[in-house]
Amino acid sequence: MLEVRNISKTYVTGELTQVALDNVSLTLRDNEFVAILGPSGSGKTTLLNVIGGLDRYDSGDLVIDGVSTKEYRDNDWDSYRNHTVGFVFQNYNLIAHQSVLSNVELALTISDVPASERKARAKEALEKVGLGDQVHKRPNQLSGGQMQRVAIARALVNDPDIILADEPTGALDSKTSVQIMDLLKEVAEDRLVIMVTHNPELANTYATRIINLKDGRIVSDSKPVEAGEQETVHEKPPKTSLGFLTALGLSINNLMTKKGRTFLTAFAGSVGIIGIALILALSNGVNDYIRGIEGQMLGSYPVQLTQSSFDLESVMKTDEGSGGLFGSSSSSSGEEKDRSSKKPLFGNQEEPSKEDGFESYNMVAGSLSATEELLKTNDLKTFKQYLEANLGKLKSDITA
Ligand code: ADP
Ligand code: MG
Repeated sequence: MLEVRNISKTYVTGELTQVALDNVSLTLRDNEFVAILGPSGSGKTTLLNVIGGLDRYDSGDLVIDGVSTKEYRDNDWDSYRNHTVGFVFQNYNLIAHQSVLSNVELALTISDVPASERKARAKEALEKVGLGDQVHKRPNQLSGGQMQRVAIARALVNDPDIILADEPTGALDSKTSVQIMDLLKEVAEDRLVIMVTHNPELANTYATRIINLKDGRIVSDSKPVEAGEQETVHEKPPKTSLGFLTALGLSINNLMTKKGRTFLTAFAGSVGIIGIALILALSNGVNDYIRGIEGQMLGSYPVQLTQSSFDLESVMKTDEGSGGLFGSSSSSSGEEKDRSSKKPLFGNQEEPSKEDGFESYNMVAGSLSATEELLKTNDLKTFKQYLEANLGKLKSDITA
């Protein structure tokens, strides 16, 4: 038995607060055909979705076979949706790229029924709704009435206790509607069917109980459950799980049905990766080439040794201690002695004199002495002796 106890549900969108269900209480028998009637926006779909576990309630309680759903965890909701209820929607909700048979089979795949059993059960369900000969068609090759039968077969294939149908004939002509209603009536013979409709004629003809909703409240109930009516308790449905191989198979199946898109995505991905690899290879090659050219160029110049050379390195040094070419040493009297030995070449190393003439004289003198210091003399005689003594070893080093 299913009990809706004082359930309220509000939707808040931006600044608008919409009360979809306003303190609704309702007890449903295990075996009846309930029609929910009411104008558009009265909360019919919301009530159905709350009962089916597709939507959560804000307050109140939904009690399933004596167990409050307040204690339900995600696993319990999954199990409830998969094994206890079956859904039929106004717009069928079939997967367009899968065959009729696969669409029905999918409901069993999610419940992890073995593959061999799935096909047989799906076929059986499709035969029950009169579509035994259409199993290999795609949904878009069927009429509206036929698509709704596929949806009913999909809802029935798990053999649920409850079928929830939201305006199942809403998109069908009156003749086809009657066929679907006949089918639902048959389905309702041994389970609970809750159908939302805004067609009172169909409801009066087929349903065993009619509930009217308005502004989220129940305004009439043709056959409420009396206090003291017997309750039956069902055993808990099995846990829902999707095996790893099943999930893998479904993913591959999904990729194969969208071959074009899969190919394009793979192609675009490879173009990116190959592009990066090419650029890396090219830059590596160019670097190697430049290094080779450098080696060849420098290898053709002989090493020259002269008796005296100019120490360029010390010219470039600009720090005070070594007195570089453009350095400026400070002029405190304590450093007077130091400055005479290490002067920058063209710096203003002397205290600024009052007359420009003296200043320039000091600069030239300082420059000359600094230049002398930069001239270094090589001891070529010792170097020659060293070369002669180690000639054999050096030769083998150079050729290696
Ligand atoms: P019915 O099925 O009777 O036409 P619904 O149950 O779909 O009515 O909606 C009841 C009220 O809740 C409506 O006023 C609707 O605008 C509002 N409603 C339904 N679903 C949503 C939603 N997802 N977000 C915001 N408001 C919603
Ligand atoms: Mg609706």
